[in-house]
Amino acid sequence: MSRSTAKSLTPLVGTKKFITAKDEYSFKGRRLTGRILHITDMHIDQFYKAHSDPKQACHRFNVDPSRNVAGPYGHLGIKCDAPVSLINATFDFLTASGLNDVDMVIYTGDTARHDWDKTELPRTAEQALEAHHIALDRMLNAFDTSKIPIITTIGNNDPLVSEVLSYGSQEIYQQLGDMWSKLGLGIEKQDSFKKGGYFVYEFAPTLNVISLNSMFFFTYNTAVKSCRHGTPGAGMLDWLKQQLRDARDSGKRVWLMSHVEMTDQAGRHEYYPDCEEKYTTLLVQYADTITGHFHGHDNSDHISYVYLDDMNTYHTESVTANYPYMHAAEDRQIAHFMLNAPSITTAKNPGVRTYKYDVETMALTDYTQYWTDLYQDNLEGRVMYRKEYTFSEAFGNDLSHDGLTKTVREIQKGGVAFDRYIQYMNVTGVFQ
Ligand SMILES: [Zn+2]
Ligand SMILES: [Zn+2]
Repeated sequence: MSRSTAKSLTPLVGTKKFITAKDEYSFKGRRLTGRILHITDMHIDQFYKAHSDPKQACHRFNVDPSRNVAGPYGHLGIKCDAPVSLINATFDFLTASGLNDVDMVIYTGDTARHDWDKTELPRTAEQALEAHHIALDRMLNAFDTSKIPIITTIGNNDPLVSEVLSYGSQEIYQQLGDMWSKLGLGIEKQDSFKKGGYFVYEFAPTLNVISLNSMFFFTYNTAVKSCRHGTPGAGMLDWLKQQLRDARDSGKRVWLMSHVEMTDQAGRHEYYPDCEEKYTTLLVQYADTITGHFHGHDNSDHISYVYLDDMNTYHTESVTANYPYMHAAEDRQIAHFMLNAPSITTAKNPGVRTYKYDVETMALTDYTQYWTDLYQDNLEGRVMYRKEYTFSEAFGNDLSHDGLTKTVREIQKGGVAFDRYIQYMNVTGVFQ
């Protein structure tokens, strides 16, 4: 499914000379490895009870013992969130496997549990903050934050009242700012964070990372309705435009991250139409500057892109499992790609991802997806994360613009690449 968005635009690709880092470039005395970690959607439920009833949000026991099937490490599906045992096991894996030795951690938000159990156990502000404390504690333990920046994001389940967030003196910006100040990045001092929860982090002379507050675009957020002039979304877009212009003028690349993606795994559009149009316009205009774009929220492993149609109009869509949309990208000029990583929480099997990038150009080159089989973990009383796939091995291309374009065209032809993509989209293990 696609929707007409921006008018015809001319991407500025190829007109700008960007600065590149020297080989020996290091960050705070630590030589860059060219690898980062992307984690998302912990949804920590501190009230989760092992061997309880998933139909009661894994919070209570059924009088019929045969219904108490929630495992010690979580229950697969969208009825329950992640127990602390799964969060602990995930950070144990990151530490034991050496995946905590990366140049940067991108955390695309949704730390607190969903407010699904509204009648019996409605989520309070204190409980949401407690989940943030648990996540921060695990992050501080697993990573040497004096050398490894952890870049955070606000998700739709992170506000004190789930799914509702506006601009201004919101308590959540103060609360999260206080907590995240312990990560030592100073993001909480930026005005944009204090009032809107978004910020820029200067990672290297060659790269800025921008964490956006996608709540200002998201159609579920009842506190905003559009990106018309004067709205929080319009303010954030003006700020983003200035950030992109400044970065470009000084020859820097930008990685963008936010929680909610523009189009989900089924191709559904998640932003208000005018927010999508204005955001897409910036993505295309600065396609040469933005060399990485990361999302979470959808609990799914999928690729989205912005493309140009025959009428010279830009649209956004996802590579989906929906048959009618296959063959879509075959003849299209794709201007920009966005990558969705699966979650730690248990909507699907839990996953974490590492990206490789070129330390000179800050271009993404590959990723490896790790997963664990929750059903087996619950049976065997342990969590065993391992590699699910590496993008280049699975699809035969790298993560460059051309590599992704070829991959998307191959997937949309159907056949093995499509089957493989769908299996990985659903985090169901190694494709045979
Ligand atoms: Zn989520
Ligand atoms: Zn979310």
